[in-house]
Amino acid sequence: MTARIIDGKIIAAELRERVAGEVARVKRDHGLTPGLAVVLVGADPASEVYVRSKHKQTQAAGMASFEHRLPADVKQPDLLELVAKLNADPTVHGILVQLPLPKGLDTDAVVNAIDPSKDVDGLHPNNAGRLAGGLPALSPCTPLGCIILTKSVHPSLEGMNAIVIGRSNLVGRPLVQLLLNENATVTIAHSRSRDLAKLCAQADLVYAAVGRPEMVRGDWIKPGATVIDVGINRLPGEDGKTRLVGDVAYAEALEVAGAITPVPGGVGQMTVACLLVNTLRAACAIHGLAKPGV
Ligand code: NAP
Repeated sequence: MTARIIDGKIIAAELRERVAGEVARVKRDHGLTPGLAVVLVGADPASEVYVRSKHKQTQAAGMASFEHRLPADVKQPDLLELVAKLNADPTVHGILVQLPLPKGLDTDAVVNAIDPSKDVDGLHPNNAGRLAGGLPALSPCTPLGCIILTKSVHPSLEGMNAIVIGRSNLVGRPLVQLLLNENATVTIAHSRSRDLAKLCAQADLVYAAVGRPEMVRGDWIKPGATVIDVGINRLPGEDGKTRLVGDVAYAEALEVAGAITPVPGGVGQMTVACLLVNTLRAACAIHGLAKPGV
């Protein structure tokens, strides 16, 4: 059996189209243009790529896109002052400070300074706490994307056994909460977990968010399971180039799983699309409008 490949590119494009439709509607009916402000500190090449793609996709969805670039040696109070300005700006509904921040800056203090109603990365403790309490919240984009990809295979996750490998605030923990909201039964694994292979073997849904190339082997996976690979790892390839691999041994898993996301072309595609969803949702909530249809 060869697994069905879950095409993140197509699913993300459909989602972006639906967001653009809703943006056009709120503009037409309410004169509201959702706006996203992205703050990039320093010139990390990977962050530059992400920020460019966010800018392009935000504009393509019909939203306002604001970019703020600060030097790597910016002082913490100056960064906090910019965040405060964006908090107060009525044309900005979503604020994203691109992480990781250069050394010397206090990431927690910066994230905590963002108005929770504009926290489209879903990292503010208010949003994390609300999500953990089962309350409506802005949730981190990558886990939101994981749920959408899973639901493209299983419209209902109720009663399914899921394992999430990784417990970061950005991916693993919020993903667990989102799965609980979908009534899945969830195991969360991490670097101290024992016998991961055995834990995985019981799961109908496997989420790998570890950052270790091809750690999850094909023979860990229950036949027919759905595998969502969050990992993005750069390995040396041919001709001095790098190649991307996930946290799952893809070729092996393809022979066992029922459905699987590729790397690249899976989860990575969904993250920015979900950022657009969060910005639209934040804009509607701030203006007291009904939750949009995405
Ligand atoms: P992270 O903060 O480094 O967290 C990694 C998690 O994996 C930790 O909870 C760690 O456990 C666990 N872990 C490490 N080694 C392990 C092992 N041998 N067995 C079991 N668990 C282990 O990473 P992250 O930010 O969550 O990112 C994870 C991966 O997803 C990375 O490859 C990253 O590049 C990728 N990512 C992709 C996207 C996307 O858009 N596709 C977005 C974000 C991240 P402890 O807690 O015990 O240390």
